[in-house]
Amino acid sequence: MTKIFDFKKEINSEELKQAAKSIRNGNLVIFPTETVYGIGANALNYKAVDNIFLAKGRANDNPLIVHIADFDMLDDLVDNISPLEKKLMDAFMPGPFTLILKKKDIIPNNVSANLDTVGIRMPANKIAHDFIKEANIPIAAPSANISSRPSGTNIEDIKEEFNNKVDIIIDGGDTSVGLESTVVKVIDGVPTILRPGKITPEDIIEIIGICKLSDNLFKKADGIVESPGMKYKHYAPNNKCILIYSEDENKLIDLVQKNIKSKTLIIGNEKHKDKYDSYKYLSYGITLDDISHNIFSLLRKADKYEPDLIIIEGVKKEGLGIAIMNRLIRASSYNYIEE
Ligand code: AMP
Ligand code: MG
Repeated sequence: MTKIFDFKKEINSEELKQAAKSIRNGNLVIFPTETVYGIGANALNYKAVDNIFLAKGRANDNPLIVHIADFDMLDDLVDNISPLEKKLMDAFMPGPFTLILKKKDIIPNNVSANLDTVGIRMPANKIAHDFIKEANIPIAAPSANISSRPSGTNIEDIKEEFNNKVDIIIDGGDTSVGLESTVVKVIDGVPTILRPGKITPEDIIEIIGICKLSDNLFKKADGIVESPGMKYKHYAPNNKCILIYSEDENKLIDLVQKNIKSKTLIIGNEKHKDKYDSYKYLSYGITLDDISHNIFSLLRKADKYEPDLIIIEGVKKEGLGIAIMNRLIRASSYNYIEE
């Protein structure tokens, strides 16, 4: 049976030790980070890592991110860190940021999906930090959700999918950022965003002076892609979904209204909640931070109303809006209208 440790108010040090021991011994432990919850295993234990893929139903050519507590853990895991990579790590770690680096052999091939690189992240969340520190091992962890579904950002959503599939779930309350980390790889000397997140291109430009976006952020990837995670159906509710956006607010409202059918649920801005005659309206808040924080739990909540159609209001692809639209375009299986 899965044990639930409630660390919402404070970290219980006995339970923290128990969770650390469990993951060191090869079990799966779900833990909160500032982005989304992670389903973690000892990153140096092939069999434990394999169990993550089984629990999630994840394709094994989709690599996992390795989480560390501090820079002391890094040397054993990766090779040939360039000055530019070092600068990125100093600027954005700990934080919602993952850097792809050349891996050492100690990291099993199922962590890296047979690539010679590995994604490294150092969470800023205190529970995540203390848990990894106490475990004293690197922890491989993808988002805690069944593959293709929205990432888990709160304990209720996690329990629905993983109760009795993992040894321990640590409850740290709702995650603050709500979207997964920004994944960056330095390619030909240029920081390149493979997956957008809370750390924006502007943030990187401020430190490094240059930043590129990968080509596949807003369209379907085909053929060989930089990051295998780009290939799959992702973040999706079970019901049919359309994403609609116009820079002109009145036009956006008009477009959404025109696409409403019977039993349509709309996920959109708090300011628009009285604008539509839909079956149900779920507000994602007002600011980009609100949307980032709320969107995955709302996509799951939407399914519970069993609508015939979900319409989502899009946002401008700017700043954190880039990450939000990257997820929403996939959540809606590329059914995207922009006018
Ligand atoms: P998730 O595990 O769901 O948080 O997603 C992690 C994502 O990070 C993967 O789906 C990949 O897109 C990306 N990633 C992890 N490791 C690598 C790597 N070595 N090279 C490229 N992308 C990676
Ligand atoms: Mg994921």
